[in-house]
Amino acid sequence: MSDKKMPLTGFSSLAIHAGHTTDPNYAHLTPIYASSTYVFDEAEQGMRRFSGEEKGYIYSRWGNPTISESEEKIAALESFGVTNHAGNPLELKAILHSSGMAALSTLLISNLKSGDKILTHFSLYGGTQDLVERILPPLGIEAIIADLRDLNKAAELMKADSSIKMLYLETPANPTLNCVDIEALTNLAKQYNLIVACDNTFATPYLQQPFKYGVDYVFHSTTKFLNGHGTAIGGVLIGRDIEKMNTHVTKVHRLLGGNSNPFDAFLLTMGMKTLEVRMDRHCHNAMEVANFLEQHPAISKVNYLGLHSHPDYKTGAKQMRHPGAMLSFEMKDGLEAAKKCIDNLQMCIRAVSLGTCDTLLCHPASMTHFSVPKEKRELYGITDGLIRMSVGIENVQDILTDLDQALQ
Ligand SMILES: *Cc1c(COP(=O)(O)O)cnc(C)c1O
Repeated sequence: MSDKKMPLTGFSSLAIHAGHTTDPNYAHLTPIYASSTYVFDEAEQGMRRFSGEEKGYIYSRWGNPTISESEEKIAALESFGVTNHAGNPLELKAILHSSGMAALSTLLISNLKSGDKILTHFSLYGGTQDLVERILPPLGIEAIIADLRDLNKAAELMKADSSIKMLYLETPANPTLNCVDIEALTNLAKQYNLIVACDNTFATPYLQQPFKYGVDYVFHSTTKFLNGHGTAIGGVLIGRDIEKMNTHVTKVHRLLGGNSNPFDAFLLTMGMKTLEVRMDRHCHNAMEVANFLEQHPAISKVNYLGLHSHPDYKTGAKQMRHPGAMLSFEMKDGLEAAKKCIDNLQMCIRAVSLGTCDTLLCHPASMTHFSVPKEKRELYGITDGLIRMSVGIENVQDILTDLDQALQ
């Protein structure tokens, strides 16, 4: 069997083929390598593998063929069409983790130490917010949280405090879909030698590629759109400094122990193959749903990046191919009306999480952002009447019919 040599020029071709190596038993798909350890032909070979002189797997916390395929696939998608400073195709290294939070932990612990600060913005994912506000401060790492849509404010903060080491972005952000300008903030951060990391979970590399703008790390909860079917928890950390990724970051990943497993990696690889077609349909459906909700008399506000009424419409349009599949809307009659709408759903699913083929609805104030105090929640736009929706890829007419009857 010959290896594919033809250069692949389309995103979907890479999503389907990148990262695959010919299986020794000619299986079309890379099997689920359910093996914790790997055999050495002789002791000398074990020594060569440990010293790095010979490539090869040793132990599955360190690496596994099923996991490698998904890592290489996502690295290929994040670097699709992106060039480095010299104008050559950008090379990236991805490390798959057991969850988004595990990938985030590796990112933070491998880049920050006691005394360092993180500069970040409002409306982070609930878990991220909790991690930077509760887990990191006792370790001596503080977060400065500001509205980074204000570039002058961002510049002022970076200039004022030399202990800021990392700029951490999440765009679009949860659940108001606020966006920050990745390019402008990265340019600014680089003047102060900050490490820049971006949570690209909501957008996926099909809609947005932060590496284009010079960020150092991209991070995903692969649990969401990359897997796409809600079958596994996972996370990936992708970095452009290959040397650092292969040494220090790999060491931190292996020692913290947040490794993925071959079954979840297999599911992720299958999911990523259809990313482009799924995202096109997700975005198309979301636009129709947003238009419907915006006209509805029971709703006071719709947050969707495809609507000109969204305050970050321009930033979204600048850095994203399409406006995504996430939206949120506010019931005129607050909490009781929000509960009733969610309870009335017949096809759409009442659940947290996002990015599955199925449409999911949840109530951020009582669910995903329950641990954020009410005053802070409201500052971030998470009112009691707000419903978050991950628009699925069902027939859009059925989604609209379900919403219409739920809102009666
Ligand atoms: C889900 C999510 C995370 C956390 O990922 P897990 O896979 O649940 O650990 C982080 N950021 C965003 C934007 C998410 O949606």
